[in-house]
Amino acid sequence: MDYQALAQLLFPEVTDTPDMLEERFPLRNAPEGAVITRMAPSPTGFVHLGNLVQGLTSERMAHQSGGVLFLRVEDTDAKREVPGAVEVLIDTLKHYGIAFDEGATHDGDSGNYGPYRQRQRAGIYHVYAKKLVSEGQAYPCFCTEEELSAMREKQEANKETTGYYGQYAMWRDRSMEDIQAQLTAGNPWVLRFRSTGSIENQFKFDDLVKGKLTITENNVDHVLLKSDGIPTYHFAHAVDDHLMRTTHVVRGDEWLPTLPFHIQLFKALGFKLPKYVHIGPLMKMDGTSKRKLSKRKDPELALTFYKAEGFPVKAVYEYIMTILNSNFEDWRRANPDAHTDEFKFSPKKLNPAGSLFDYAKLVDVSKNVISKMSAEEVYELLTEWAKEFDPEFAEKLTGDKDFAVSILAIGRGGKKPRKDLAVWKDAKPYMGFFYDDYLELPVFDDRFENDVIKTVLEKFLVSYDPADDSAVWFDKVKAITEEIGFTTDMKAYKADPTAFPGTVADVSTFVRQAVTGQTNSPDLYTVMQILGKERSIERIQAVIDTL
Ligand code: GLU
Repeated sequence: MDYQALAQLLFPEVTDTPDMLEERFPLRNAPEGAVITRMAPSPTGFVHLGNLVQGLTSERMAHQSGGVLFLRVEDTDAKREVPGAVEVLIDTLKHYGIAFDEGATHDGDSGNYGPYRQRQRAGIYHVYAKKLVSEGQAYPCFCTEEELSAMREKQEANKETTGYYGQYAMWRDRSMEDIQAQLTAGNPWVLRFRSTGSIENQFKFDDLVKGKLTITENNVDHVLLKSDGIPTYHFAHAVDDHLMRTTHVVRGDEWLPTLPFHIQLFKALGFKLPKYVHIGPLMKMDGTSKRKLSKRKDPELALTFYKAEGFPVKAVYEYIMTILNSNFEDWRRANPDAHTDEFKFSPKKLNPAGSLFDYAKLVDVSKNVISKMSAEEVYELLTEWAKEFDPEFAEKLTGDKDFAVSILAIGRGGKKPRKDLAVWKDAKPYMGFFYDDYLELPVFDDRFENDVIKTVLEKFLVSYDPADDSAVWFDKVKAITEEIGFTTDMKAYKADPTAFPGTVADVSTFVRQAVTGQTNSPDLYTVMQILGKERSIERIQAVIDTL
């Protein structure tokens, strides 16, 4: 067979050579040890936690080493592509602080190693396709769907491994005449790799997460180019990661089964093999057993979920770090205020079997993260969230910024800051009562007569002076308690509750409920200070009027 002639026949339009491409995309001028890596998501419109795990791992590896992180859009599967998905992808990753040095952007591509969208790289793949054909390493296959199904059925009946290999590789050694005839008839074809591997052979391979692997050679003549001339993932991976000068491929371990083929393909193309970082799936506990997070069952897999709930990016980021690197939590304890970038991230610390995702733990981390923010920062992030997910609440917040910030400042800044908020969604139930529109009428404990409550509130109004400090304020509450025959001696009350009609805690609760509508609130003295004299009095008076 004249492979040169076949290559010319299949790819007459290709005039570039691999050497020209090598020259166009030279080795990067990167410092010794710099990691050049990428995120290569498919624009399906669904951006998930796995993307973030992979993005964060690649981002840390690249930027920690003075390397480069780029974004390549793997859009070869036009059927799965959702309009606008690339933008969603870029925005979501940006929202999570994954900054790309080059690659696809909203306004086209940026960088010298593009195009960064695979559909725009068809011409480049064809250069290598032509090379492989001219060397006898790839060939056209004209099998129809029916022929392929018949092949599979036969293999299944014979209890053999299914696939296009060995004696089943129908077009592997066909004559030029046969190929010509098919081409003349205008029949569609795919380009297949001519595998020289054997499943009898194994070799050792080192993965940065999985460790030492024993790999069995690939013997399948996998498809390189589909009938529309667009490459499969495998072929595009080899060509792109070579020409873009990727040193480390960080990706999900669902690609491990085809790694033998990838290794073989890099060799066939004369490319240096990059290092591989195969990340295990995200797992969760389901009863007593672990399972993979699933798109269908687990809403928390989608990144949009965290945004809508109102998890601050910092919290999600911090949590992902804790599940990726087991020493991160210790580091955080030792360096409570350090920026996460100061942590030395290592792919070797990733759990090869996959990380366990624990929602309750994320909530805890988030509470901590929010408790350490300044009131101003909480205000900014909460408002940004509310503008998108609760515009009415956003209006309240922005209507009087100082008021909102002083509410958010309650219990902040000390050694033991309050941890009321885990997500921005918690903010309205926590602080809504400050706004008259969200204030609810109190429902008092029916152990107490309305008259008693009314008396307490009236007495409170008489004695109330906003200039009091909190100690005086509380002394007044205690005085009212005694005046109405309730006790301030909680010990005595606990010893014999039947001896007293009520306590100072009940009296405080009446006032709290009148001011906030609820039985729980942050420190009432502070709440009233923030509300101010008039609004506090108005609220108490309004409740008195209902009693
Ligand atoms: N497009 C592939 C995916 O989304 C990329 C895998 C890779 O990073 O190489 O799974």
